[in-house]
Amino acid sequence: MRTLHWFRNDLRLQDNPALLAACQQGAVLPVFILDTDEPARSALGGASRAWLHRSLTALNASLNNNLVMLKGSAQTLIPDLCARYQIEAVTWNRGYEPWTIQRDSGLKTALKARGLAVTSFNGALLFEPWDTVKKDGFPYRVYTPFYKHCMANLSPRIPGVLNATRIRVVPHAEQAGLESLALRPPVTWDDAMLTDWTPGEQGAQRRLQHFLATGMGDYREGRDFPAKRSVSGLSAHLHFGEISPHQVLASARAESPSDDNQAHFIKELVWREFSYNLLYHFPTLQEKNLQAKFDHFPWEANEALLKAWQTGQTGYPIVDAGMRELWQTGSMHNRVRMIVASFLVKNLRLHWHHGERWFWDCLVDADLASNSASWQWAAGCGCDAAPYFRIFNPTTQGQRFDPDGEYTRRYVPELLGLPNQYLYEPWACPVEISRAAGIVMGKDYPAPIVEVKASREAALLAFSEMKRRAAG
Ligand SMILES: Cc1cc2nc3c(=O)[nH]c(=O)nc-3n(C[C@H](O)[C@H](O)[C@H](O)COP(=O)(O)OP(=O)(O)OC[C@H]3O[C@@H](n4cnc5c(N)ncnc54)[C@H](O)[C@@H]3O)c2cc1C
Repeated sequence: MRTLHWFRNDLRLQDNPALLAACQQGAVLPVFILDTDEPARSALGGASRAWLHRSLTALNASLNNNLVMLKGSAQTLIPDLCARYQIEAVTWNRGYEPWTIQRDSGLKTALKARGLAVTSFNGALLFEPWDTVKKDGFPYRVYTPFYKHCMANLSPRIPGVLNATRIRVVPHAEQAGLESLALRPPVTWDDAMLTDWTPGEQGAQRRLQHFLATGMGDYREGRDFPAKRSVSGLSAHLHFGEISPHQVLASARAESPSDDNQAHFIKELVWREFSYNLLYHFPTLQEKNLQAKFDHFPWEANEALLKAWQTGQTGYPIVDAGMRELWQTGSMHNRVRMIVASFLVKNLRLHWHHGERWFWDCLVDADLASNSASWQWAAGCGCDAAPYFRIFNPTTQGQRFDPDGEYTRRYVPELLGLPNQYLYEPWACPVEISRAAGIVMGKDYPAPIVEVKASREAALLAFSEMKRRAAG
């Protein structure tokens, strides 16, 4: 039998249930489509496109340059390929974004009507979102019971090993190739951004092994300190499916001692599951506040403040370090993501949509589920969100989580010579000391764009105003 395997966010050969099923049926036509039907709002951001270009290069190499890569409407291209190459079956791994679900179910019906066998699989999650519901059938809205449910029902799959050399490819004459997708920007800034990353299945496996050898042992404590290398850096690999959560879980369990570090790491993998659970059950997660009362929040509109935040020019060193890390590397440490998000929505009182969109464009791990759920969490309007009155103080956060300034100075080098004592309050540094460090405050480094105490009070007032409006 000839099967078309449609690669989407499952850009790997190992532990790929849909690809494995296709191979077991006979010859395979491996296809990737950059779907132009995707709604603009969820179209790939710049950093994701750059990553995807390299990930497809790697996948194509492991398929001996046999990957068919096309740009256009999947609804047209898939039936077309099936007809031209006498395909009898189609396989894919499921996606959970609302438009993906809609497209896939339409396509499944259309292909079945033509007599093709169409099978979809779970290649991206530990649990299907429809399986992780409460006893009353409603979805979980709070993380801890969700986590307990997951741990009680976790049945790790032994990752199926699919040897790439065993894939028998349907001979084809498709010429278009990777360049026709035009994923890379015309001005190639992406090489610099991706110097520390190796997109693709091998890069993912190497990063996992490196983390297990060097980071896992300190994960529980170290994961909050951006200067430490205690986190896995696997999120983009997981997003593009270059590695599966089952592979990560199985390796973590096999190669690290079963202790607090391992348990904490698994908890984070379950946060990813929780985000997908929210997206599946609340498909407007990217747009609509999960707590409707936040529809009445009096957000500010201020382009200058937004620009200062985006470009890392807020005058708060830990915030600026995070935003510049994002711009330079396509990533940002989780602790710092929480700090910059709190700063945007609480100190600047700019709508979380601005942050969600900026992250979407800049992050290599931009993921509709995790990004939307995390922004709603940070803004206080999500399920099980951080309470609105919990407002991170960027000065004390910096002092606590980057006490020596190693991370902050890496991305804010103009503060290199400033003593630690003033690093997170550079405005308070006596002029003679900042001069000796070679900095003129307000010229070499911006003065704070808002005052933390006053903006905190204004945020709490706005929160009260929101409650008043929601009640009336
Ligand atoms: C405002 C904001 C936006 C975010 N946007 C994204 C996003 O677009 N894509 C994304 O993958 N993560 C997002 N996160 C979650 C988290 O910051 C990243 O998953 C994490 O920093 C990735 O680094 P890591 O792979 O080293 O994580 P590790 O600490 O090594 O964790 C292992 C894996 O668990 C998952 N994970 C960890 N923390 C979370 C979390 N809080 N929520 C969901 N999954 C988690 C990731 O898949 C990660 O790779 C966001 C967090 C915030 C506060």
